[in-house]
Amino acid sequence: MIVELNPRLKVLRPQGKAMFPYSNSLCIDDDICLMIDAGAGGRAYQDIQPEKVDLLLLSHNHFDHVNGISFFKNARILASEMEAPGYIDPDIYASYAGYELWEELMDSPRQTRFGSISAMPEDVPVSPGFHHIELSGHLHDGEIFDLGKYKLQSVFLPGHSHGHFGFFIEQKGILFSADIDLSPYGPWYGGLFSDIDQLVDSVNRIIELDPAILVTSHRRVFYKGEDDIAGSLKAYLAKAMEREQLIWEALQTPQTRSELLKRDYISHYRQQNEYTVFWTRMMILKHIESMNRRNMITCEGGIYRRA
Ligand SMILES: [Zn+2]
Repeated sequence: MIVELNPRLKVLRPQGKAMFPYSNSLCIDDDICLMIDAGAGGRAYQDIQPEKVDLLLLSHNHFDHVNGISFFKNARILASEMEAPGYIDPDIYASYAGYELWEELMDSPRQTRFGSISAMPEDVPVSPGFHHIELSGHLHDGEIFDLGKYKLQSVFLPGHSHGHFGFFIEQKGILFSADIDLSPYGPWYGGLFSDIDQLVDSVNRIIELDPAILVTSHRRVFYKGEDDIAGSLKAYLAKAMEREQLIWEALQTPQTRSELLKRDYISHYRQQNEYTVFWTRMMILKHIESMNRRNMITCEGGIYRRA
């Protein structure tokens, strides 16, 4: 499905919900034809001619943003330099997920591959897991791509993943914020290099850019005239702060890290499986790291307490 922002600027949406394994793409059909992300599914890309895309920019190296790479046969592909090793090395790719912490967090070895518990729809050409992607170059914060009529700027927005980028078309006030997605459940920061403090800075950077139109990877398009974009971004961050507050409340009595992690009290997943439990624990870990850095809590002899 295409949401036309104007005849040259199109949001490509998957046929169903833009949830994993799908995500929205933004296409700028200019002198240079540019596409952001490759996860909208084969049915969505049927409506344009994917082979005429010259430049494909990847917001970050998560499966739901890169799985349709094979549709763009003639495109140069650019992504963050920080995540570049993960596009060519399966072990580095797996390390980004934090699986080396699995046993420590889950008390048992990882039994099932994520790909084996999630069946793919027929217009997603590959299964979750590592897929070699040859990059033609890297994205840099503030870099401007002159496409002809439009210019697009890379905006480094880390936190969700360590090399997460958004993209800004200043002439139109259109911001593609990728996985700063305004999910009503709040942000996700369950990867090894996810960072809640960086995420807060990134969301604040978007608020400062004050976009007229916000395109996220997983929701509908937001328009400043109709939607309170800044308010929604603040509410989105507030969800993360609610989780921190729950951890703070739990620390009314000192706790071991294991006790803090295993209560799963901050989980927002409706369907629970071993992966959602793992990601929840990773996110609790990220809050503990952040609260430690900000001297809210201390840890002595393996016991966490309020500072
Ligand atoms: Zn992501």
